[in-house]
Amino acid sequence: MATGIKTNLEWLQGSGLTVNRGVVVDEHLRSSAPSVYAAGDVAEGRDLISGAAAVHAIEPTAQEHGRVAGANMAGRDVRYRGSLLVNIVEVCHLDVASFGAWDDPTAEVASGVKADRPAYRKLLWRGDRLTGAIILGPSSDIWTTNDVGMLKGLVQSGVALGRFKAHLARNPFDIKPAFIASRTTGRLLDETILGRPAKAPGDTPVAV
Ligand SMILES: Cc1cc2nc3c(=O)[nH]c(=O)nc-3n(C[C@H](O)[C@H](O)[C@H](O)COP(=O)(O)OP(=O)(O)OC[C@H]3O[C@@H](n4cnc5c(N)ncnc54)[C@H](O)[C@@H]3O)c2cc1C
Repeated sequence: MATGIKTNLEWLQGSGLTVNRGVVVDEHLRSSAPSVYAAGDVAEGRDLISGAAAVHAIEPTAQEHGRVAGANMAGRDVRYRGSLLVNIVEVCHLDVASFGAWDDPTAEVASGVKADRPAYRKLLWRGDRLTGAIILGPSSDIWTTNDVGMLKGLVQSGVALGRFKAHLARNPFDIKPAFIASRTTGRLLDETILGRPAKAPGDTPVAV
């Protein structure tokens, strides 16, 4: 059973900060008090896909928030374009992953199941861009794991998929051609939250 998350905001009562489901922050992760920033589980920031305010309460969002809030607190001017909602869980040897606006009732939807194994895909579209996805499949199936990464990239980059939209509608299990043709990895490598190239040890570029 899952009950979701609830941010502990009681200690902020009477502080004067604007709070909703979390501490409401602007695109700089700044609260309603100019010198107070909020990041991570306590912050209600921008969702990448919908643009709406949301509390994600996941580690990737906390890390991105922390980088942006820290940079702004240190005097830089870094705007945050929003965080991608991602949840991955293994239940009874099945991996279940959801990305972005996976429950958007207004999106165009394509879905499919495999006849030979417990595997399900749901893809949500705005035009020819993926805005959300759900994967369910055996943890032992390498394509479940691979497609989690590729689908996350396609939703996160918001890349226009053109004719691959029709291909994915026919076969939502064949993600790789769309991922490679859209050069999604290259797009995400260039994308750094702080607006500068990120380097791992050995000068390998990494997406942050
Ligand atoms: C059981 C569980 C499983 C999870 N699994 C995943 C997962 O698989 N993937 C994922 O992405 N996310 C997962 N999460 C969520 C993830 O842990 C959080 O989103 C992330 O840790 C949030 O980081 P944060 O820095 O905002 O908050 P936290 O990590 O909670 O850090 C807040 C810190 O502030 C300290 N603190 C609190 N009050 C005060 C105070 N008054 N003064 C000083 N310090 C204070 C706390 O002790 C804590 O160290 C999980 C969370 C839980 C509880």
